[in-house]
Amino acid sequence: MALPPEFVKSLVTILPGNEITALTDAIENTRPVTSVRFNPYKIHERPTGRQVPWNRYGFLLDERPSFTLDPAYHAGVYYVQEASSMFVEHIYRSAVGEKEGIRLLDLCAAPGGKSTLYSTVVGLGGLVVANEVIRPRAMTLADNIQRWGLGNVVVTNNDPSHFAGFRNWFDVVAVDAPCSGEGMFRKDPKAIEEWGPESAAMCAARQRLILSDIWDTLKPGGILIYSTCTYNTQENEDNISWLCRQYECESIDMEVPSEWVIVTGTVANGSSGDIKTFRFYPHMLEGEGFFAAVVRKGGNSERSLAPKPRRTIFTNIPKNAGKEVARLVKQPEYMRFAEVAGNVYAYYETTFPDVKTVAESMSTVTSGIMMGQLFSGKLKPAHPLALFHDINTEAIPQASLTLDCALDYLRKQNIDASYFSDGMNLVLFGNFPLGWAKRIGNRVNNLYPKELRIMNL
Ligand code: SAM
Repeated sequence: MALPPEFVKSLVTILPGNEITALTDAIENTRPVTSVRFNPYKIHERPTGRQVPWNRYGFLLDERPSFTLDPAYHAGVYYVQEASSMFVEHIYRSAVGEKEGIRLLDLCAAPGGKSTLYSTVVGLGGLVVANEVIRPRAMTLADNIQRWGLGNVVVTNNDPSHFAGFRNWFDVVAVDAPCSGEGMFRKDPKAIEEWGPESAAMCAARQRLILSDIWDTLKPGGILIYSTCTYNTQENEDNISWLCRQYECESIDMEVPSEWVIVTGTVANGSSGDIKTFRFYPHMLEGEGFFAAVVRKGGNSERSLAPKPRRTIFTNIPKNAGKEVARLVKQPEYMRFAEVAGNVYAYYETTFPDVKTVAESMSTVTSGIMMGQLFSGKLKPAHPLALFHDINTEAIPQASLTLDCALDYLRKQNIDASYFSDGMNLVLFGNFPLGWAKRIGNRVNNLYPKELRIMNL
């Protein structure tokens, strides 16, 4: 598909002539590089392959396999993510480091590429609030978070302004803003169809509104990671410059080796140091168009107290159920179990108060790990428990399927009963749990969620 002439014209302000030709040629005539980011909580051996230079867990693939037909994909062993956007890991590590107990708000989170990345880098002692304003997209986000299976995420479905009560509460706020999508032109021709010369101005105004809605939730000294997948300066540098004029922003120093060929720049920020910006161009590196900037909020103070919850949704689980649920996770000593609307959920003890604060104040889709429902003291397991990285597989009969059978399972078809023990089974492909199935006599009830099943391929 030909590029809109107005788009090509707009590149004059950001690239020299020969570079414009190289960029448009790359968009029109080359294929996007496929990349995946693996889940270090699910595989402990590093895969071999070409690493994404700025991401510990990112790998570039030589071709695009059918991910749908790979059970490991459905087990949350890796996430298919465009390589440039994996750079936010480098930003996070440079700006935050290995600090424990980080509260991170990922404000524009669906489908969840960056949320799964942040859930990995904050570690199990941290908490990610992954928010998406559009309801169906928030549901997809929840599916992807559950597949990733770390248990340190609350998925919410709110307008940015709804977070106003969380004043100075987050250590990190990530705004991966809805944008004019120019950086996606090569990967997604629909982005070209949807683009118009006026779209950048509209997006820029919306991005400023989002930033102003959310700024107060960041604690002084906290980190804002702003990113878009567009080249447009109005949505990128101009918005960062606007942010610096509105609020007290400080720069953060960051090493970016020149061999990564990321175009680094600065946005003037008066006396407190210029703000660094990062641009990614597909004619220079193996990734799509992307922009990122990072600022530290001026001042320094402790995080503020949480807003008062609007309702109570968590109750304690019945006393006699404690052992039953604890045996299903490998390290129950770090966990807190609670009931929400008839389902038992698992949370990390240290961040449970924060989860509670968010889930009881915001419109919440899911949080922690949904373990299942208790019937007469026995747990009927829920799908997300199978995908939890710390499930105690030894506590449950296992059915390890061949590739063909695993795909039949994921299609929610009938499977040969000989693989299964009587009763509830954890279904695996290799070492990777996929879901649940129950054998009753010679019949197997395939419990893979209907809405996640793979269509006939
Ligand atoms: N961070 C995601 C990832 O890595 O998978 C991609 C996010 S996408 C670039 C931007 C998201 O912002 C979309 O899911 C979109 O629905 C959401 N969005 C749209 N309008 C919004 C608004 N006014 N406020 C907040 N988010 C909005």
